[in-house]
Amino acid sequence: FRRNPGETEFHQAVVEVFDSLEPVLRKHPEFGEAAILQRICEPERQIIFRVPWVDDQGHVRINRGFRVEFNSALGPYKGGLRFHPSVYLGIVKFLGFEQIFKNALTGMPIGGGKGGSDFDPRGKSDAEVMRFCQSFMTELYRHIGEYTDVPAGDIGVGGREIGYLFGQYKRITNRYESGVLTGKGVSWGGSLVRPEATGYGVVMFVEEMLKTRGLSLDGQRVIVSGSGNVAINAIAKAQALGGKVVACSDSSGYVVDEAGIDVELLRQIKEYERGRISEYAQRRGGNTSFVAGGSVWDAGANVALPCATQNELNDDDAASLLKSGVVAVAEGANMPCTPKAIEVFQEAGVLFGPGKAANAGGVATSALEMQQNASRDSWSFEHTEQRLSQIMVNIHDRCAATADEYGAPGNYVVGANIGGFVKVADAMLALGVI
Ligand code: NDP
Repeated sequence: FRRNPGETEFHQAVVEVFDSLEPVLRKHPEFGEAAILQRICEPERQIIFRVPWVDDQGHVRINRGFRVEFNSALGPYKGGLRFHPSVYLGIVKFLGFEQIFKNALTGMPIGGGKGGSDFDPRGKSDAEVMRFCQSFMTELYRHIGEYTDVPAGDIGVGGREIGYLFGQYKRITNRYESGVLTGKGVSWGGSLVRPEATGYGVVMFVEEMLKTRGLSLDGQRVIVSGSGNVAINAIAKAQALGGKVVACSDSSGYVVDEAGIDVELLRQIKEYERGRISEYAQRRGGNTSFVAGGSVWDAGANVALPCATQNELNDDDAASLLKSGVVAVAEGANMPCTPKAIEVFQEAGVLFGPGKAANAGGVATSALEMQQNASRDSWSFEHTEQRLSQIMVNIHDRCAATADEYGAPGNYVVGANIGGFVKVADAMLALGVI
């Protein structure tokens, strides 16, 4: 805490992992002797840089860029870039820290990192976004590479931004190095299923959790928070499996649509037109309502999928979900549930899938994109989705088995933290004190 003052989200993420590790350190004293805990929460490299760009009015604007290369024991640093005004070092470090364990859980050879900027793409023209991305990459390019560090998207960074970033990387380096970024368009090196992967993966994980109680998504009432990449694809998959998604949100408020969210209309408004969620209620008509501000969780559900941002579901929200009969919660976003909310769910016996496990489908499919780039191949949608589905089942089973092994059956938080940690710690031990 003293070494990293003011980085509250980073502290929260570290405490959450370390809380699970006591039995591991008892079983593996060698991790303590090699100072694995001290080393694992110190990033291998942190880069902070100026990003100057010119807006449409000709004014010079300055943002701050970050890349935190956290841990490369298992492979090149891998993790997204977030463009949002709330981004500062504490957010990037929390995301990078979580990414280490998430990536380990996927079973793929990837280390952990994260980056971004306090730039806000909302309300900016395409030309402004392009100039920003080009300036951002003009510094970032020297730190990344197929074998070094492979960024992807996150909040505020989708296909458009990855395109501008990749274009500038290619121009500066004079190399068509497809494997340097993931989340690319399918016609220029991207993988089918990557845009859907995080949202689909969350729902696949929920299905696996529900199976352990003889349940399924079919007929369940579902709330998905957010209406970005992860949320929209989680809604689509939950509906495909028979769930009824009745509410979703953005940072201005939420909509309740008892007839079930029309996911194509939502996609049109939020993804293609970059509009606000209130427009969904206006255009959908019927009994759909928009609530400005407020908590989307008040709509009540059996299955809750927080897919917007960190700390968006607190203990009051958890209590209100319990009242409405929630049986399963899975984190599509990173750290969306506060520690107290998680406690409420776990004490009540609700199935709880932490982000490290439940939203790992996105990065796992990014690793599949890297495989396709390395072999100059492109796989079909069906094949790639099949691989994703198998990966999600494996992650679920590994978390469940690890929780059993360490005396906490059904506790996916313990399973994910320990499962991810042991894999990285073993590799760090093998690589020596570096
Ligand atoms: P997007 O930018 O596509 O969407 C983010 C959504 O969350 C938007 O609807 C946004 O609303 C909403 N949101 C953001 N901040 C807030 C807030 N403070 N309160 C309420 N709503 C908010 O991002 P993604 O869908 O890619 O990412 C969502 C989450 O999933 C993040 O936590 C991210 O780290 C995590 N994640 C993403 C992965 C991916 O593959 N994209 C992989 C794994 C995790 P608005 O439109 O108003 O801004």
